[in-house]
Amino acid sequence: LLKDDADKGFKGHDMLAPFTAGWQATDLNPLVIERSEGSYVYDINGKKYLDSLAGLWCTALGGNEPRLVEAATKQLNTLPFYHSFWNRTTKPSLDLAKELTELFTASKMSKAFFTNSGSDANDTQVKLVWYYNNALGRTDKKKFIARTKSYHGSTLISASLSGLPALHQKFDLPAPFVLHTDCPHYWRYHLPGETEEEFSTRLANNLENLILKEGPETIAAFIAEPVMGAGGVIPPPATYFEKVQAVVKKYDILFIADEVICAFGRLGTMFGSDKYNIKPDLVTVAKALSSAYMPIGAVLVSPQVSDVIHSQSNKLGSFSHGFTYSGHPVACAVALEAIKIYKERNILEQVNKIAPKFQEGLKAFSDSPIIGEIRGTGLILGTEFTDNKSPNDPFPPEWGVGAYFGAQCEKNGMLVRVAGDNIMMSPPFIMTPAEIDEMISIYGKALKATEERVAE
Ligand code: PLP
Repeated sequence: LLKDDADKGFKGHDMLAPFTAGWQATDLNPLVIERSEGSYVYDINGKKYLDSLAGLWCTALGGNEPRLVEAATKQLNTLPFYHSFWNRTTKPSLDLAKELTELFTASKMSKAFFTNSGSDANDTQVKLVWYYNNALGRTDKKKFIARTKSYHGSTLISASLSGLPALHQKFDLPAPFVLHTDCPHYWRYHLPGETEEEFSTRLANNLENLILKEGPETIAAFIAEPVMGAGGVIPPPATYFEKVQAVVKKYDILFIADEVICAFGRLGTMFGSDKYNIKPDLVTVAKALSSAYMPIGAVLVSPQVSDVIHSQSNKLGSFSHGFTYSGHPVACAVALEAIKIYKERNILEQVNKIAPKFQEGLKAFSDSPIIGEIRGTGLILGTEFTDNKSPNDPFPPEWGVGAYFGAQCEKNGMLVRVAGDNIMMSPPFIMTPAEIDEMISIYGKALKATEERVAE
């Protein structure tokens, strides 16, 4: 569908559904990607695409970084596997735990727990927080507050934390211990005349009211992405995290920063928490941790939490949780090398060099009559198509405006993420200025074709 006839998408086929469930893709003539090189991927017919989403917001170092391949090969030849259970572990796993807890400086982190992905890392967060409160005898303090439109993963618990209806409907989710508070999207949800600061105050008040209604003694943790990703790329409004953190702290509620997309430089800071002055108690990372060359996620744990878990007076016994591949030595070796490269190549400088071109070049299309808002920061950007420049005038879903735009990008040699009428981009950090120009040029062509189609 995507490949053969861009117009079909416009007439209302759901372009996203086949690709949200990988197991369906073989029935549906999927685009099959065969190899990658720098910021490009190639399909099985040899067609080249600029990978504007870096895979799934993750291949930060692009498609063929030889040092990552070498790190994996070396580790495979030395010790392809050993586990991290019962006080046994491997050197790469130990070294990566040390590296990550030192790299995160927004607040103090003392331990790392390794997982296979962001989803199971967020499930791990829930179990850690419950264990922590049980160890403290606070057996009623179990509820989690997340935000509408957030994305925290696809397992039962991480999908429950997520605030996207598609992840809940049909699955009997969210789990009853998960509550959702407002999405901090100023453009869409602010009241007439309300400033960003006032909007943030109102949202923080709503959060406090929710906590008070439920009973603060029942709320264990609040989880947030520094910039919301899959919900449509939503950077926080001014003063939002400052105000929300004050509320959370007041009621002794743990703050979990889900940095799965934002960490390792995407926002121009090493972590999203650095950018927004977030001081979390727990952090989730994945994706760019290994530049996606190996599947790995991690939970970083502050001393406040880990000290309780490890305290002698804790009668609960060991934290009985872990995966066969927790701390997989090959994944850890690749992640260590990725972080080494981020440091050696001064990845923050690189991101901050190309980010203004990316942001300004694409935001220059904001005047388009079919674009409601273009938003983003660093190397992450979302475009939302609406009519009359208004959040309240969506195009009829059966028009498939976003899908049409995505198909036009693909036709012109660029892959973007399409979710309804939201388009998302998060390019690899290694993009050259010429590649950013190419991205802007293809975006412009696709936009022009989409404008013409809408006007028909
Ligand atoms: N958290 C955030 C913020 C994410 O964007 C994602 C994935 O996109 C996840 C968690 C889940 O990670 P994974 O797909 O590795 O399970």
